[in-house]
Amino acid sequence: MNTQVCAIDEKSLRRAKEIIVSGGVVAFPTETVYGLGADARSDEAVASVYAIKGRPSDNPLIVHVHREFDLDRLVYDEAPYAAKLRRAFLPGPLTLVYRSRGNVCLRVSCGLDTLAVRVPSHEGAQRFLRAVDMPIAAPSANISKHISPVSAQHVYEDLRGKIPLILDGGRCSGGIESTVCDVTGEYPVVLRTGLVSAEMIAAVAGRCEIYTPKGGEQVRSPGMKYKHYAPRCKTKLFAADKLAEASAAFSELHAAGKRVYALCEDEVRGAFPARYVLDLGGSEREMAANLYELLHEGEKAADVIIAVKPRKEDGIMAGVINRLTKACAEEGDET
Ligand code: AMP
Ligand code: MG
Repeated sequence: MNTQVCAIDEKSLRRAKEIIVSGGVVAFPTETVYGLGADARSDEAVASVYAIKGRPSDNPLIVHVHREFDLDRLVYDEAPYAAKLRRAFLPGPLTLVYRSRGNVCLRVSCGLDTLAVRVPSHEGAQRFLRAVDMPIAAPSANISKHISPVSAQHVYEDLRGKIPLILDGGRCSGGIESTVCDVTGEYPVVLRTGLVSAEMIAAVAGRCEIYTPKGGEQVRSPGMKYKHYAPRCKTKLFAADKLAEASAAFSELHAAGKRVYALCEDEVRGAFPARYVLDLGGSEREMAANLYELLHEGEKAADVIIAVKPRKEDGIMAGVINRLTKACAEEGDET
């Protein structure tokens, strides 16, 4: 299959609609990462998303809609705090998990009675979703377990020959996947951290918890148990207070002739030779926006990436550190 990469205009949107209506898949930009979209009402179309990515069949998908789409067609029972969250953060990088009306195929939510819904703020995503005017099930547009794509080029590198069309909306400004927040209970529970932080949600809803699976319990956000976001080179992760160890590990590998790069925040870059630094930046938003871009860059240049955790761990950084930790997890780790 020939994979076209097209700027978003009337012609490419017409083509995207033709593909989606006939049960195919299209990659599209959002403000977080690129998505691989299909008609959420079509079991076959959704099945092909799982097949193309090699995604485990128990990891549910998020349904994306445009900003005028009536969410009541898809989900029930908005708790008053959920309506507040919607008004405060949508369109934007927040996915809300509601009780489902069952109007999309069961495969989207892997048979769960809930449905994860997102209204992306990216103008290109909005144009695509308006053009098709239907709920679009979309995971990130990468091969399962690889780093999520933040440019059309990243999508092309993973899915070339497997999908007909990539809508190119430039580099994603957010850089990590949306926050996933369950709004089916008395108060919001963050299942996956992201650019809308638990603190921001609590400020609107009055209360918010971050879910941590307890031993023996069924995981509430099935995707969280998988190793994710991993580059195709070796990685070694060091805690923020282990900079000297990270620097020594770098020197040792470098002396042994390995191509080794250091991924770290601006503040500590001086611990490594400048030409081998993948600099995450200084602010929280910069670090989120740069993380996957640098992991993509790093896996092409390096045998080993030495990563140092940024020192700040709350707010948006909870999401950044969650993704960095998963990228550096050992094969077989299920965290
Ligand atoms: P991705 O498509 O890679 O962005 O992953 C989607 C994330 O949303 C995964 O972590 C899923 O577990 C989570 N998710 C999707 N639908 C649901 C749902 N109905 N209930 C809980 N989590 C969900
Ligand atoms: Mg993903």
